[in-house]
Amino acid sequence: MTDTVLEFARKLPTTEAPWRGGRALCLACRNYWPGAAPVEAERFECPACGKMEGVWTNIVPNQVPKGSTVWQCGCGGWHFWVNGEDKAIVCCECGKEQRW
Ligand SMILES: [Zn+2]
Ligand SMILES: [Zn+2]
Repeated sequence: MTDTVLEFARKLPTTEAPWRGGRALCLACRNYWPGAAPVEAERFECPACGKMEGVWTNIVPNQVPKGSTVWQCGCGGWHFWVNGEDKAIVCCECGKEQRW
């Protein structure tokens, strides 16, 4: 994993870009790990499967408060992004627009 981080750093235009650390989730293989990546990075490499599908997450399934409802896509994904143009909520994993 250390090699991955260093390699990623070399691809940045400047070495002064701020980094952040936190809990990361791989959208491809559902691996969770304590990660570190440049702040601007929207996706970064998963240490488990090697795909550039890592995203920051503050919620993991076993930390969701009991009794709360969590929306989940039909594909099993539960990370979404909001399209800025039409405000559509789209699944990060399968790309399907969510309707309810
Ligand atoms: Zn992965
Ligand atoms: Zn989905």
